[in-house]
Amino acid sequence: MTLPRTYRTVGLTLRKSAVGETDLVSVLYTAEHGKLEVLARGARRLTSKLMGHFEPLTLLRLAVARGRALDIVAEAEVITAFPMVKTDYATTARGLYVAELVDAFSALAAANPELFDLALQTLDAIGDDLASELPLRYFDLQLLRLSGFLPELYHCVECGAELEPERHRFAAGSGGTLCPDCTPPDVIVRPLSLAALKVLRLLHRTESVARLPELRMPAGVRDEVRRTLSTAIQYWLDRPVRCQVFLDAAKLA
Ligand SMILES: [Zn+2]
Repeated sequence: MTLPRTYRTVGLTLRKSAVGETDLVSVLYTAEHGKLEVLARGARRLTSKLMGHFEPLTLLRLAVARGRALDIVAEAEVITAFPMVKTDYATTARGLYVAELVDAFSALAAANPELFDLALQTLDAIGDDLASELPLRYFDLQLLRLSGFLPELYHCVECGAELEPERHRFAAGSGGTLCPDCTPPDVIVRPLSLAALKVLRLLHRTESVARLPELRMPAGVRDEVRRTLSTAIQYWLDRPVRCQVFLDAAKLA
């Protein structure tokens, strides 16, 4: 059976790079095909119909022709460019953080429709509530879950004992929470407060970002939740998150 020569899909643009005089290569995330790398011929020409379509964080409806090396964009139509996310530097940085992590955690051509939905819903939530960072923390935890790296939050990863209030710590390198009696060698163990653990569990069991309750966390808890998730993400990524620099610069995460 031969594959059809063209196919239609909907994709979220993650990043782009210039190729040749006027072409560009766009990396998109799609529900059916996972991460997709496509060539958009002439898209950098000012007169091109595709001009501006491949800016990061644009949801596109595409017709794509199969090519020998890269598939080639035949048609592209913008569904939304998430204008609310791009209202200012800080929210744009949050959007790009989502794009960077989807890119980093998804192998080429491995479909994960739930991750596609999570990315779109997170972008909507960022645009809906410009002041809240909870959508990003929800994204962090659910990204880990959908990638098979969900940290343990209920038991000690070493001895299996159920955690008791105020008797818990966190070690990204061990895969989650630890009781005070277990200290595995060669991993960084961090303190974890009960308040932060409760927020992490809430993020875990809430079924979608739209269903998150209004939560006004004290700054200390907010920072602790962010640091805990960020150590888990960096542990699996094995490098820092580039967009974190911009978030820190904007004093927002
Ligand atoms: Zn233990």
